[in-house]
Amino acid sequence: MGFVVTLDGPAGAGKSSVARRLAESLGIRYLDTGAIYRAVAYRLDGEGISSQEEEKMAESLASIKIRIEKEGIFVNDENVTGSIRSARIDRIVSGYAASKAVRGALLGLQRAQADYGDLIADGRDTGSVVFPGADIKFFLTATPQARAERRYKELLRKGEAAVYEEVLARIHERDDADSRREIAPLLEPPDSIRVDTSPMSEDEVVHRLLSLIKRRMTQDID
Ligand code: C5P
Repeated sequence: MGFVVTLDGPAGAGKSSVARRLAESLGIRYLDTGAIYRAVAYRLDGEGISSQEEEKMAESLASIKIRIEKEGIFVNDENVTGSIRSARIDRIVSGYAASKAVRGALLGLQRAQADYGDLIADGRDTGSVVFPGADIKFFLTATPQARAERRYKELLRKGEAAVYEEVLARIHERDDADSRREIAPLLEPPDSIRVDTSPMSEDEVVHRLLSLIKRRMTQDID
């Protein structure tokens, strides 16, 4: 296993854009674990299987192959990258992510990504469950309002008709569902570094994390 950085936290804390930029600066691979859950939710929802149907989900997952390529994320041969960040998937993904069948099916795929070299992974349980032995762990958080505002702007940029109050309500719902579920809930690993991004610009977050990672890479911090 190479050098592994994990970045966990609630929806809209800025994890994905920060992780992507860190990966670029460091020249290492980026694993967006949320995209994997979104891809599975998109597929199962498209097949008409609800997140309550554990057996049907397990059956369908057995025939689903997820591939993470430079061009995006594929479910069997379909590139689903453009379809997984819609308001609908935002609403339904946590239901599927709470399933034992779904989490079990995706664990090996996530861990295998570290076999190919250094990696930065972001999600909800990357520091606690997927890579408990990661070299450096971050927990990114922000107020629900700051997170909703970022997500709202992102949806508008993509041309979706979004209403701020609804986005905020979804953020609360998703936080609640992700924190309360029995398997691998969102929690702050005790050995992670907490960063509240509410008052910080994305550049500031990237610089702060980058300097901590570089110090850890050269073993300057314990
Ligand atoms: O990070 P993102 O918002 O794209 O994640 C979408 C959803 O996938 C989360 O709300 C959560 O339900 C689920 N997820 C998870 N575990 C992860 C990453 C994402 O349960 N490691």
